[in-house]
Amino acid sequence: MPTEVPGIHHVTAIGSDPKRNLEFYTETLGLRLVKRSVNQDDISVYHLFYGDYGGSPGTSMTFFPYVDARPGRVGRGQVTTTQFLIPGGAVDYWLDRLDDAGVETETDERFGDTVIGFADPGGLPLELVARADAPACDPPSGPVPKAHAIRGFFGVSLTLATTGATKTLLKMMGFQPSDSDHDRQRFEADGDLGYVVDLLEDPQAPRGQPGAGTVHHVAFQVTEAEQEAWRDILIEQGLRPTEIIDRKWFKSVYARTSGGVLFEFATEEPGYTVDEELDALGEKLVLPEWLETEREEIEAGLPEL
Ligand code: ZN
Repeated sequence: MPTEVPGIHHVTAIGSDPKRNLEFYTETLGLRLVKRSVNQDDISVYHLFYGDYGGSPGTSMTFFPYVDARPGRVGRGQVTTTQFLIPGGAVDYWLDRLDDAGVETETDERFGDTVIGFADPGGLPLELVARADAPACDPPSGPVPKAHAIRGFFGVSLTLATTGATKTLLKMMGFQPSDSDHDRQRFEADGDLGYVVDLLEDPQAPRGQPGAGTVHHVAFQVTEAEQEAWRDILIEQGLRPTEIIDRKWFKSVYARTSGGVLFEFATEEPGYTVDEELDALGEKLVLPEWLETEREEIEAGLPEL
């Protein structure tokens, strides 16, 4: 068996207006734009990556922001909530900050943690989970003071008709059952960011439909040496993983899990500094070499940011 997965590598979602997306994640949430590229499967659309200062695995939220995107429906067979981790003392700060930004919030207690729920401008459901054991972080110097800054991911919630096969896979990956209540089963890995997957079993939930405000996939961290072994495990589980795909900043294997959620197994290496200096991350449009010859056309086809 390969080494257990420490947690989430990144979450990729579908957004709408790229400018509003950029403003919200950098100015309101205080993340850094660490990579500005294009969707490798649709070069008329940006691929924007946000994260901590270096875009470390476990902090990286990425978007395909389609101008005039049709709204999707958050529902069964999807990641239905993306959760960020904030320090235990930062709840009031974030409630004020989101209120000042005109973002409606809902506060809840879950397994002993305060959870602030809200949606991004594209309608994507997000939560801030406050915990005293939130690790130290390396945020960009920006609008949010370091003491209150988002540390990275806490986890994701998946809404599924039945949870059996997903549970089996999560346990093999290193996510073990921890808490549960009547509608939520929590699985935790051993890392310090993105270490939670909550399963919400709800056969009556409407089926999710892709579009703005929905998560496209969740990626988990693996090492390059073990990526092939993870691919074999997915095959043994009856899934049909892709080949290993070179995404330039990491290598990826994707598999649609039996509950309908698209999982990715992404390498920690080489990371976002492979093609830009750390201090210059996100400043320019970067393209993988195989798209460089089309740069002029690609730039002309992209909206202003
Ligand atoms: Zn991905």
